[in-house]
Amino acid sequence: MNIPLIDLKAQYKSLEKELNEVTIDVLSSANYIMGKNVSEFEKEFSDYIGVEHSISVGNGTDALVIALKAMGIGEGDEVITSTFTFFASAESISAVGATPVFVDVKKDTFNIDPDKIEEKITDKTKAIIPVHIFGQCADMDEINKIAKKHNLYVLEDACQAIGGEYKGRKVGTLGDMACFSFFPTKNLGCAGDGGMIVTNNHKLATIATALRTHGSGENGQKAYNLLNDIQEEVKKAEGANDTVYNPLKYYNYLIGFNSRLDAMQAAILRVKLKEIDKWNNKRREVVDIYNESFKGLNVQTPIAREDIKHVYHMYILQSEERESVLEDLKEKGIATGVYYPVPLHLQKVYKNLGYKEGDFPNAEYLSHRTFAIPVYPELTSEQVNYIIDSVKNSCK
Ligand SMILES: *Cc1c(COP(=O)(O)O)cnc(C)c1O
Repeated sequence: MNIPLIDLKAQYKSLEKELNEVTIDVLSSANYIMGKNVSEFEKEFSDYIGVEHSISVGNGTDALVIALKAMGIGEGDEVITSTFTFFASAESISAVGATPVFVDVKKDTFNIDPDKIEEKITDKTKAIIPVHIFGQCADMDEINKIAKKHNLYVLEDACQAIGGEYKGRKVGTLGDMACFSFFPTKNLGCAGDGGMIVTNNHKLATIATALRTHGSGENGQKAYNLLNDIQEEVKKAEGANDTVYNPLKYYNYLIGFNSRLDAMQAAILRVKLKEIDKWNNKRREVVDIYNESFKGLNVQTPIAREDIKHVYHMYILQSEERESVLEDLKEKGIATGVYYPVPLHLQKVYKNLGYKEGDFPNAEYLSHRTFAIPVYPELTSEQVNYIIDSVKNSCK
């Protein structure tokens, strides 16, 4: 039996008719940039997360870059983040000209260790980016407490954790801003690239909205006025149409980006957003069966905190004999993945930052042991049983 790490074809099949319809609708409407599907999706996303502002962008990495820029972070600033995450969490910091400052993770949850943050704070530190890794929310109360004490922004990297909760509060509402990714393999994925910034902060939302479209037009002017303390009413241009012609578009107020969510992706995401809670529940059901079945084996199952609703973007096991287990599973036709083989402080590209092996023992330890097995809503019980039998065989 061949089982992929995630089955996007099965996901498509489950919604085929509706997805085809909305895609053709956008295609035939000839409204490809911004417009109704984008604004409606942003509204629906805000309602779902429980925030005031959702600003859709081209991908999750751009979401982080634009959010940091909106916070005014750049050259000479430092931003603290986890060393055990996808590269974009730190790349975004470098992309705005600031320096990523890495912190080790906790061995049990793989999330940034709040006890090790404060020693890294300097007078250049401007923000903390906690990453809700593999779908489990970071220790936000402790992180927010430190941020408040030192007057730092908190930007949640929630790219792997849509729908997750922390002490009854939704991921995305726990810091100053949060970023999501709609990369196809994420829990909520589109048919290409996509991302979202959310916030309850009106000023940050206004600046981020301006930055995603060249800092131009009405949004650019509003952001400019906010940044320069100018009290002035900004009016929409007569006859303005965002998608075809808007005379204000050719007036620029900030150096921004061109990073928008395509109307086609927005239409697809509107269909899929309705499924996300059901999908996350299915993931948790599979995980419960895995955890129960792997008890007593020579493999460590992931730990989920009681007060956190984990959405299992990945189901991460640990083994001392990882390479041979992966080889066994491959032979059985079961796809696996290693997340993450190199902690960010040891990436070649960050050599100049001066970190060395041994700096963050937990992340380094995990990087040699962790691996992911398939967990997705469309897994059949036959597939789940086959995976369980194969892991049991290999991890006796
Ligand atoms: C996927 C991901 C991103 C980047 O999202 P893209 O849409 O691929 O740019 C950032 N951070 C984390 C933790 C991710 O998993």
